[in-house]
Amino acid sequence: TTTPVTFPLTHRFATELPELALPWQAEQTPAPQLLALNDRLAAELGLDPEALRAPDGLGLLTGTVVPPGATPVAQGYAGHQFGGYSPRLGDGRALLMGELTDREGRPRDLHLKGSGRTPFSRGGDGLAAVGPMLREYVVSEAMHALGVPTTRALAVVATGRRVRRETLLPGAVLARVASSHLRVGTFQYVASARDLELLRRLADHAIERHHPDAASADNPYRALFEAVVVAQADLVARWMLVGFVHGVKNTDNVTISGETIDYGPCAFLETYDPATVFSSIDVDGRYAYGNQPAVAQWNLARFAETLLPLLAEDQDAAVAMAMESLDTFGSRYAATYAAGLRAKIGLAPTGQDAAAAQLGEELLELLRGGHVDWTTGFRALGAAARGDAEPVRGLVVDLASIDDWLARWRALGPDPDLMDRTNPVYVPRNHLVEEALDAATAGDLDPFERLVEAVRQPFDERPGLERFAAPAPQDFGRYTTYC
Ligand code: AMP
Ligand code: MG
Ligand code: MG
Repeated sequence: TTTPVTFPLTHRFATELPELALPWQAEQTPAPQLLALNDRLAAELGLDPEALRAPDGLGLLTGTVVPPGATPVAQGYAGHQFGGYSPRLGDGRALLMGELTDREGRPRDLHLKGSGRTPFSRGGDGLAAVGPMLREYVVSEAMHALGVPTTRALAVVATGRRVRRETLLPGAVLARVASSHLRVGTFQYVASARDLELLRRLADHAIERHHPDAASADNPYRALFEAVVVAQADLVARWMLVGFVHGVKNTDNVTISGETIDYGPCAFLETYDPATVFSSIDVDGRYAYGNQPAVAQWNLARFAETLLPLLAEDQDAAVAMAMESLDTFGSRYAATYAAGLRAKIGLAPTGQDAAAAQLGEELLELLRGGHVDWTTGFRALGAAARGDAEPVRGLVVDLASIDDWLARWRALGPDPDLMDRTNPVYVPRNHLVEEALDAATAGDLDPFERLVEAVRQPFDERPGLERFAAPAPQDFGRYTTYC
């Protein structure tokens, strides 16, 4: 006999915003098989990993078992995709199972991806392949370990069903946890419906869930907007500092919480170049590494448009207010990025501001000119702060400039320990991710598990993991992602 397990799911989103929540159920899975389970996250959520491994647990993780009282829903949202507006996107291959309360009392969405067709599927099959779901798992774990706000992966379960892509691939469902799935696209969906009461209910829900301080502001909706501006400015600054290229930051992939969401054609920089694009479909470089701050602000302008009716009765006044608040993005982004870059070069948070900023700018130029690997370059600089400049000198071409730079930098007293806490050794490098996903697709999970282990402690250099710290071999070539 099995112990009956309860999974304490609430359905607050579905109850408070039924207009955005279509009750739906997952497709059956012919032969569910657990590929990855995040025990630590399960514990954070107060879930027993053993219960999740049991048949009912796998049912929960694929949506085929609905715990008593739960109401799985497909969420409605709209979005600008590559600048073009789609009024109806929604969960075409995903379901919100409900909310769990974590050990710290915070509500967390339990969401499934690849759980079958929904009324939002349009032409899609509602399914996901093992490779991309494991990619989301490993990259989101890495981002979390790097201190970047992100949705988390709880599990990946193979379904036993084949998914037709270019070839037939094994299918999987990802169970994902997020502080919510509210997006700019959710607000766009409601704004097009021109239902002011619903818009206010959505905004109040977002305030309560993510930015509770806004509730007591003179203008709570303006305060909500400004809180999201701050959250997104900080998020994108952190992406830039770790060399992350999201690849598809459409408005439906911009969260109100400020968490990174939807790991599709994403990748990490190797050679530093702001023009870097990995996604095969991003032909104009809209989502290029260096364009991410600008595109984040563009997305926030779309968010502001949805809030205009709530900001003020006089719409001219509302527009002026929104523009003023949107303008704060630039300085917030610049401040977070500058503080982060400063830490990356080991300088204390305050003092010598002009010199620190100048050194930061010059270093970026040296890295770009020398085609230096972003992650290796900063880590090598940590060794230079300890007195060994050879690793970093070995990476740049312009030795006279780097020597001059190093001398001026050393005079400011960089702290090597701060650098080692700030600059990772291990990020999910593109060639390692591909290798791990190819092996997993062919049935061998070892490379995937080793990669997860490496990137979960990104700052802690360990013997035997040298290949996880090294850039891709030359013959890996230029990396292109598909989604
Ligand atoms: P994404 O690119 O994952 O942010 O998804 C954009 C939109 O396409 C969302 O509405 C998804 O639900 C939908 N979508 C993506 N893949 C599929 C699929 N295989 N079947 C149905 N809908 C999908
Ligand atoms: Mg999306
Ligand atoms: Mg996606």
